[in-house]
Amino acid sequence: MEIRIEGLTKVFRSPSGEEVQALKGIDLIIPANRIFTLLGPSGCGKTTLLRCIVGLETPDTGEIAIGDTVVWSKERRIFVPPNKRGIGMVFQTYAIWPHMTVFDNVAYPLQVRRVPKEEIRRRVRETLRFVKLEGLENRPATALSGGQQQRVALARALVSEPKVILFDEPLSNLDAKLREETRKELRRFLTELGITAVYVTHDRLEALTLSDLVAVMREGVVVEVGAPTDIYFKPKHRFVADFIGKANFIEGVVESVGEGYTRVSTPIGPITCGEETDLSPGEEAVVCVRPEAIELMKGDSQPRDVNVFRGEVSSLLFIGESYEGEVRIDGLVLAVKASPTSPIKEGDEVVVFLDPSRCHVLRE
Ligand code: ADP
Ligand code: MG
Repeated sequence: MEIRIEGLTKVFRSPSGEEVQALKGIDLIIPANRIFTLLGPSGCGKTTLLRCIVGLETPDTGEIAIGDTVVWSKERRIFVPPNKRGIGMVFQTYAIWPHMTVFDNVAYPLQVRRVPKEEIRRRVRETLRFVKLEGLENRPATALSGGQQQRVALARALVSEPKVILFDEPLSNLDAKLREETRKELRRFLTELGITAVYVTHDRLEALTLSDLVAVMREGVVVEVGAPTDIYFKPKHRFVADFIGKANFIEGVVESVGEGYTRVSTPIGPITCGEETDLSPGEEAVVCVRPEAIELMKGDSQPRDVNVFRGEVSSLLFIGESYEGEVRIDGLVLAVKASPTSPIKEGDEVVVFLDPSRCHVLRE
């Protein structure tokens, strides 16, 4: 089911009377049956927004609808309680009960609703099979690995067959390797279920790999919404470009805009970007170029007729799958990457080529 959020605001008052504007007017359409991620730095309002959707927090203004049902509206004085919203939720701390077995943990939401015993048994069994925990019904929940506990929490959220499932940083307590596995598994589960999933994280990699759509938030505002590749390659905002991955920003002024390209004049010389912009010549612009779009070459080669500069490698660190470092062009320092087999070393004079098709123009 689609979730529609309009004009949502929320102010918290701290005990000392200080006001925190956690949500500053959120308008968002979360499409049905997709994985939708809210990504943003800590404190930007992700959890607050999630808690408003599920009904654990009351917004100050605005409206929330799930499918055709308005579940909260200030103006129309509508408040549908959390247990009537058809939402399952998985929290950061899995909030599974350690003194209960896997079966009882998953059965709990159905027991509360007084679902007949036979049906509970059937649905718990099906759900545990779905999350690949069959056979572990009678284990105490604490006798499971972190990844398995996470799946118990998922099973418990799914057992009531919700129309919407919300996740609040569910993988942050897992170690890096397990987090990667669980991420893939979760994407498979959710895609198979075809359920509307809203996923909160501050981890850009998690957002990129897991989501169909990403909404990047900052200080109580949704800055930009897009598919992971759009957010990564063609962000509209510098904040988004910077948050989603390493990026160089070169400030300049638009020189000319032609068919399929924009030329920006910058302190190191003109840079050709392989895309058009709605900026006009003379306007300030920022060229965004990711380290992996910068090629370093030795010697005096002049490989292309645009975007070629001379620079010096000021640092280069081996990080396993590649080298990461910096190259200095006049006064400008750019973050760069090099292949582990590259002959280039720290201190080398190099030719630097910025791939025009990966130079992106931003309005600042
Ligand atoms: P995120 O989940 O993105 O880290 P939160 O939604 O938890 O952010 O918090 C947004 C802002 O609201 C933060 O500044 C936080 O300190 C504040 N906040 C959240 N909940 C409360 C609360 N119950 N009382 C006071 N301030 C709160
Ligand atoms: Mg949070």
